[in-house]
Formats: sequence, C-alpha cells, structure tokens
Amino acid sequence: MKNSEKDSSRRKFILNFGSLGISSLLVSPIIIQSCRTNLKEVGSGDKEKLLNSNNELVEVDSAYISTLNKNLAKNHNSESRKGLPGKKFVLVVDLAKCKNARKCMDKCQAVHQLRPEQHHLNVLIMKDNDHTAPYFMPKHCQHCDNPPCVKVCPVDATFKRSDGIVLIDNERCIGCRFCIAACPYSARSFNWYEPRDSEKYKDIPYDIEKNVPQKKGTVTKCTFSADCLREGKLPYCVSSCPNGVYYFGNEYEDSVTNGTSGETVSLKILLSKNAGYRLMEDLGTAPSVYYLPPKDRALMPDIENSNS
Ligand code: SF4
Repeated sequence: MKNSEKDSSRRKFILNFGSLGISSLLVSPIIIQSCRTNLKEVGSGDKEKLLNSNNELVEVDSAYISTLNKNLAKNHNSESRKGLPGKKFVLVVDLAKCKNARKCMDKCQAVHQLRPEQHHLNVLIMKDNDHTAPYFMPKHCQHCDNPPCVKVCPVDATFKRSDGIVLIDNERCIGCRFCIAACPYSARSFNWYEPRDSEKYKDIPYDIEKNVPQKKGTVTKCTFSADCLREGKLPYCVSSCPNGVYYFGNEYEDSVTNGTSGETVSLKILLSKNAGYRLMEDLGTAPSVYYLPPKDRALMPDIENSNS
C-alpha cells in the first residue's frame, strides 16, 4: 500500500469512528466484553507453571487461570500461614511424670476429628535395653526447625511458620505422601478412610490451624494446637494432662508453663537442670520438642495397670 492510500484509510477510520458519537460510548461495554472474549480465545501470552492432578508440571496461559475455590485462596494467604509474631513455640515432655493416663491423646483425638486408630500424638512404651525399666513416652510432631517433610512437598501444602509451627493445608494436599516418607519421627498419617463424623463436620469451614474438617486422601498430623495458641491458651494435650508431664511456652522469652500446675519456669534452667534432650538430634532436624529423662522409671507403677 502506498503512503497516500494508508493516510486515506486512516482518515476514513477516524471519520467513521467519530460519526458514532455518543452512541459509541453506550456500546463500549460490549466492545470491552468482546476484547476480553478475544483475549480468552488467543491467550495473554503470559505462562504459569502448575501441577496438574496427575502430578505433572504443566504450562498454562494465565488468561485461562481462575480461582475455583475461594476458601483455598483465603487460607493460602491468611494469617494462619504466617504464625504469631514474636513467638517461637516449644514443648517440654517430662518422661519421669508420664503414667500413661492418655488424657492428652483422648482430647487430641476428640478435637481433631480423628478416627480411633488415628493419632496426632501417641504414648509409646519404651525400653532402652533388657536391663532397664520401661517408661512411657508421648510423641508428637517435633515441629522441626529444619523439617524434611516441608522440603519434599511439591505443592506447598505443608509449611513452617515464623513461630516454629509446621502445619498442613489439606485443601492443597494432593495426597502424594512424600512428607510421610520424609519424616524421621513417623509423626504423620494418611486419611485412608472417611474421617470420623464426616456428616457432622461437612458444612464447617476448613480451619488450617485446627486441621478440621479432616479430609479423606490427605495427610494429617499434630498442629501444636495452633488455634488455642492464637487465643492465648495452652495446647489441648498440655492442658488435659493430669500428671504435669507437659510444659509449653515461648523460647524467645525463655519461659514455659506446666499445663497441670500452671507454674511458669525458665526453659533454659529446666533443660539444663534435668539434662533435657531432643530426639535424633544428630539428624540436624532441630526439633521444637524437648524431653526430660525418665529418671524415676524404677518407681513407676506396673505397666499393665497404669491407665490411670
Ligand atoms: Fe515434619 Fe516429622 Fe519434623 Fe513434624 S516431626 S516437622 S512431620 S519432619
């Protein structure tokens, strides 16, 4: 096309467009809508990488992406993923005091909608060797500062917060179970079946901090009762123990509170005076759970009759 013909076409377009006048403003929403439709048809050109339900990494034009589940978006960006400012939560378990009452387990199971065979915390019977007396050891998720479970999650469903708590968002969990394999403390379990009382819980909005409602096909574990901590309360297991086994508190403030007596003590002094230790320290996972040795185990009641 010659330059003079180009100018003529341009002028005709301007004249025709101008002659539409006010009516063009009235139809403008239709024009915009039509532009949007075209954008969907041709794509924006910006690509996003997403994991599909077959666990394959795929590339999708961003014009085709929309949020399907409003709760997912809300939870993903919520305070629940950030943690409580100025806190670094820590649990101390005094093995000398545990009598296998299992009130902590019962409470945890009840509030987290767990089936009878499921546990976020388990009281184990331990025996170091043939010549030593057995003892009871409550075992939770260790809320590791260097958590192997978080590193292997392909969809950012499990994460570590600034306050030290490791949580799972079961709306993101795809049930791959890499995290279960990665955890050296066997602290995670899989929801193979419909959760207990699923009908009763079905209309309750999902709460990441409580991890309820539970969801079939996803991983579940101890939350350190993050929902209680947000309200300034001690975790469910800590406050339900009748034997003073648990201390819980903030490492930054060097203070932990006993869930039975309510006594608050220095974390450092409690650990140093009682030879506190962490499980499998040599792995470098840096747990947030400490144990005090079962020093009075020889005085413990008979294990067979100890459920009191
Ligand atoms: Fe993850 Fe297991 Fe450590 Fe808990 S104990 S933070 S599940 S690696």
